[in-house]
Amino acid sequence: MSAVLLDIANLNKSFESSSGTVHALHNVRLQVKEGEFVTVIGPSGCGKSTLLRIIAGLDVGHDGQVELSGRPITGPGIDKGVIFQEPRLFPWLTVEKNIAADLSLNKPEVRREVDELIELVRLQGFEKAYPRELSGGMAQRVAIARALLRNPRILLLDEPFGALDAFTRAHMQDVLLDIWQQNKTTMIFVTHDIDEAVFLANRIVILKPRPGEIRNIVTVDLPFPRKKASTSFQQFRVKVLSQFEKIEELELIDSSGI
Ligand code: ADP
Repeated sequence: MSAVLLDIANLNKSFESSSGTVHALHNVRLQVKEGEFVTVIGPSGCGKSTLLRIIAGLDVGHDGQVELSGRPITGPGIDKGVIFQEPRLFPWLTVEKNIAADLSLNKPEVRREVDELIELVRLQGFEKAYPRELSGGMAQRVAIARALLRNPRILLLDEPFGALDAFTRAHMQDVLLDIWQQNKTTMIFVTHDIDEAVFLANRIVILKPRPGEIRNIVTVDLPFPRKKASTSFQQFRVKVLSQFEKIEELELIDSSGI
């Protein structure tokens, strides 16, 4: 049994805005084990990004417990790699220099690790290319390699493939699963795509909005590699979809004031 890496308990987060208090997260409780792949899914505004930002240490004004390896998360750091929807590369640096960033490629161990990562994210031949010469999927693979070079305990991905076309997206899902299977990095992946959530995850955390709460956690015990057209995959898809129907019912009750 793997150890618990991320331990979240009684997490509450509110924002004050001109229109009043927004309860972005309410009593969130979640434990993620070392090496797990967890996807987080839910309608827009249910607190997915807020949850990820808190785990990343980018947002520290919250109530409750958020611990990584038994220590409270008090700010950002290289132990938590973060990938956003847009790759955020340095346009003036080549692929290999974007991956190395503040580390020197003249150091043999950095050179070796960068070369290994370039192979892992399937960018051989593009080491000297600039971001403007890359497709969206390639640029995102550079961002993932840059995060992995820092050996993060956990990789946090906020709709990383949301801006990509369907074919590139499917390819990126395969690349990410390869990385996960080879590196065993713990992953938390936010998406609003049910297929993507089922395809990648060991467990799917389903959030509901107003306030952002965990509606359910579904364990996906399908073996890898998964086939999206298979009956077992489609059954899981329906299982997750049915949770959203329940969320809609809850919302109808909320809005009718009952
Ligand atoms: P999601 O990622 O699921 O779309 P978010 O985490 O971005 O949801 O937002 C959750 C809720 O918190 C939304 O109602 C959003 O408007 C609100 N929110 C998020 N960030 C802020 C902020 N900086 N100031 C005020 N409200 C915010």
